[in-house]
Amino acid sequence: MLKYTNTEIVFQEFPDETTLAFNISGCPVHCKGCHSKWLWEDTGTALTIPNINKEIKLHEGITCIGFMGGDNDRDLLNAILIILKHEHPELKLGWYTGLDNYNQINLNYLDYVKIGPYIKELGGLNNRNTNQRIYKIIHNNKGNSDINKNYLVDITERFWNRV
Ligand code: SF4
Repeated sequence: MLKYTNTEIVFQEFPDETTLAFNISGCPVHCKGCHSKWLWEDTGTALTIPNINKEIKLHEGITCIGFMGGDNDRDLLNAILIILKHEHPELKLGWYTGLDNYNQINLNYLDYVKIGPYIKELGGLNNRNTNQRIYKIIHNNKGNSDINKNYLVDITERFWNRV
């Protein structure tokens, strides 16, 4: 089971979007120098479709749903993405993973993916030396449920102009 500690509206994590972000607990990555250690605990509210829909209803005007974490049950998060894409095709979906690859992530249902653990000396996305990358995902047949090819556009540079 995945759980989230809280939700918040964020504007920078996914460029050009008004995002309802779910901070997911139980993070198994344990980066040295982690800035959000409270997310290591297995605590919070169950990340279920009814609970997500309840939050969506409470936050009119959002354009994107962002999942911050979820590496402790990627299969479940992949399944959630499929349902949300079908129930809310108007909303973009994004995922911040702490791992350095997206091998176990189903990109077909995502619009953004950020990869990479946090390494204090290299900094986060807004640092030019960062190891982290964020991609916008372009689907070759958007609007068609038989999505079979994705193009990843590296948009990390967009974070560098903010420092
Ligand atoms: S991915 Fe790394 S920085 Fe993010 S919550 Fe987990 S341990 Fe902390």
